Amino acid sequence: MTDLTQHTIAELRDGFARRDFSAVEVAEAYTRAIEAAKVLNAYIVATPELALDQAKASDARLAKGEAGPLEGIPLGIKDLFCTRGVHSQAASHILDGFKPPYESTVTSQLWRDGAVMLGKLNMDEFAMGSSNETSFYGPVANPWRADGSNQALVPGGSSGGSAAAVAGMLCAAATATDTGGSIRQPAAFTGTVGIKPTYGRCSRWGIVAFASSLDQAGPIARTVRDAAIMLKSMSGNDPKDTTSADLPVPDFEAAIGRGVKGLRIGIPKEYRVDGMPGEIDNLWEEGKAWLRDAGATLVDISLPHTRYALPAYYIVAPAEASSNLARYDGVRYGLRVPGNDVIAMYENTRAAGFGREVKRRIMIGTYVLSAGYYDAYYLRAQKVRTLIKRDFETVFAEGVDAILTPATPSAAFEVGAMATASPIEMYLNDIFTVTVNMAGLPGIAVPAGKDRRGLPLGLQLIGRPFDEETLFAAGQVIENAAGRFTPERWW
Ligand code: GLN
Repeated sequence: MTDLTQHTIAELRDGFARRDFSAVEVAEAYTRAIEAAKVLNAYIVATPELALDQAKASDARLAKGEAGPLEGIPLGIKDLFCTRGVHSQAASHILDGFKPPYESTVTSQLWRDGAVMLGKLNMDEFAMGSSNETSFYGPVANPWRADGSNQALVPGGSSGGSAAAVAGMLCAAATATDTGGSIRQPAAFTGTVGIKPTYGRCSRWGIVAFASSLDQAGPIARTVRDAAIMLKSMSGNDPKDTTSADLPVPDFEAAIGRGVKGLRIGIPKEYRVDGMPGEIDNLWEEGKAWLRDAGATLVDISLPHTRYALPAYYIVAPAEASSNLARYDGVRYGLRVPGNDVIAMYENTRAAGFGREVKRRIMIGTYVLSAGYYDAYYLRAQKVRTLIKRDFETVFAEGVDAILTPATPSAAFEVGAMATASPIEMYLNDIFTVTVNMAGLPGIAVPAGKDRRGLPLGLQLIGRPFDEETLFAAGQVIENAAGRFTPERWW
């Protein structure tokens, strides 16, 4: 029998319908794979009993012909999503022992559609990071290694566990979130597909907040089609999140195969950054050729405020984080470190509970919001944000349907390589992705090639608001041309 963990969601769906295998068999195959892959550290907690119960229920529904759109599909869930009665700690020490009595809207929709939960996935603490090295639970190893090397590489972040689990065949797909690139950058580092939908497409209710005006949930999957299937279940209006959009959810999967004939694809000159490795440039050229050959017209565009996006993001995101993270004080949930009085208890708890990067963000955020600095930093960053948004609006108004860029400025790097460098080095990872969050647009990362060391590289497509369908259509063209990327198993 072929290894059941190799199947895509679409293949599992067909296999279940044909009775080739059962949901229980698939869940058990994944449970074994997770057990054998502990060295990757992709899962913080596995939930095999829960998976088995859900898989049994799926088999019963399959037998009755009542299968949901994700019936029996085993998923990994980023630790940022609240799941009832199960570890939900944003990979932080400060939420120790927190098991929410409620379920996030996105995950409840996945279970409604028949999916099976395999466990909670590792991530950067509070989704702050680009390498999964800020997790209280330790770094995640990328299933990919450079040719002829045993050196551990990061899977990207903050959804590093999600990306590693999908690439390493430890779940059929995973939930993830993206505030500045945390779905697309890890997808690019692991040869997987990740889409950050338009802000408002998915409910944020029950997802631990980092920067509320930027955070969006989305899937990481093995193929463009699987990402489309996942996003359909994750999306939709939710009265519990006032920023969730009251719009119908399209059949994203139907957009696959639509092609790009007649589409105008913008190529922004500002994304050719100084010092970018030649192979990233070559990948971009290749991507342009694939889309052109498939019938798209390439147009040179300018997004002049791109160069201010990263500094503005690293003001807006920490500002919102400092406010969101004020709730972790040792009183309501998680860790409590006693002190002589309540102030000392707050201080002791926060000192012990937050990691270095989270503390850095809280301090930056508090500083830029403080009286006297608010206008100089926060207000200015908000103005820059408006200009970035306007750049995109202008090119879309001129008839551009989607924008093609590299997803990251490099392939995956060594564990520890950047942790010792200045935090700014790490922040540069988000150079191609943060603009999309600042403007609230949808963006997809699709694997497109390998670097000279044999590591996967991704291309990014950016779309008009609520036009994820064009991204799936164009993403499929790239996938068809580039093929799929699967790491050699070494664990
Ligand atoms: N790497 C970025 C940061 O650290 C983005 C993180 C994210 O998208 N959650 O803020």
